[in-house]
Amino acid sequence: MKKNLAALLLLTILTFTFTLSGCTIEETSQKERPPSTAENQQSQNTAPTKASSTEAIEEKENQQRETSPAERPSQELTLHFIDVGQGDSILITTPNGSTLLIDAGPQSAGQKVVSYLKKAGITSIDKLISTHPHSDHIGGMQEVLAKFEIGQIYDPGHVHSTRTFEQYLETIDERNIPFIIAERGMTIDIDPQVAIEILHPPEPQESANNSSIALKLQYGQIAALLTGDGEKEAEEMMLQYAGSSVKSTILKAGHHGSNTSTIEPFLQAVNPEVAIIQVGVNNRYGHPHQEVLHRLTQKGIKIYRNDLHGDVVLTTDGHTYTVRTEKE
Ligand SMILES: [Zn+2]
Ligand SMILES: [Zn+2]
Repeated sequence: MKKNLAALLLLTILTFTFTLSGCTIEETSQKERPPSTAENQQSQNTAPTKASSTEAIEEKENQQRETSPAERPSQELTLHFIDVGQGDSILITTPNGSTLLIDAGPQSAGQKVVSYLKKAGITSIDKLISTHPHSDHIGGMQEVLAKFEIGQIYDPGHVHSTRTFEQYLETIDERNIPFIIAERGMTIDIDPQVAIEILHPPEPQESANNSSIALKLQYGQIAALLTGDGEKEAEEMMLQYAGSSVKSTILKAGHHGSNTSTIEPFLQAVNPEVAIIQVGVNNRYGHPHQEVLHRLTQKGIKIYRNDLHGDVVLTTDGHTYTVRTEKE
């Protein structure tokens, strides 16, 4: 019987809470655990045979736009930047019908995330990513964990002593959901046509924000870089690690558009056409910061914000993309 890593991490927190012995926390050997075959079946069922060329499949695009959301369009990848107020939550559906959810917003948005997913026809989540343990990212997880079957969870392994984080780990442990500590260089395989690589962190960092799991998703010629609340330090590490391959069509601006993120050299290397800022109306942090908005607009990057646009939905066939927003 394998021990669930969530339980180990929980134990680490509890030990930490009792001893409070400074900031060096011994990481128990947290290695990737292979997904159980049962968990995998779902994505395999719908997966097309081998990596088929994207060219062969993009013909019927126009008709597909008229299909109802419940019948998955077969060749589109969609990124939903769900308006959860001040916090992050991104739903990704891939051409073969697999689903990835990155963060679940604050606790107050848990129900919204669940109903959003249900409306999008989601019945189970293949991969759930908790970028980092701050409550504006994992607060809504309880609700999500209660309502959906989850294939696997990726977590940065950053130890955070809050009740929200403890509850999240307890639920994962109770439900025995496969739990993986994400490390840069790992890939997330949910669809043979979509490449997802983790670019950060190499290991949990001292700061929770800089421990954020960052990933690059590539579908045909379109790429998205999603960096959680990664700040300057995380961006510098990513640049050092991935160099020019951070380049992406779409950037989710780090840390809700705070000026601690989206630093000039990083933005220059990513060189996006579109930036998404997941931010709440009149949030008390003053996000997004003017400096960041200025850096983006100066480069002619189109900005979408949850506080202004509501839910932001980007759909791509691997060649081009369209953006739909809830509000104008
Ligand atoms: Zn945050
Ligand atoms: Zn954070």
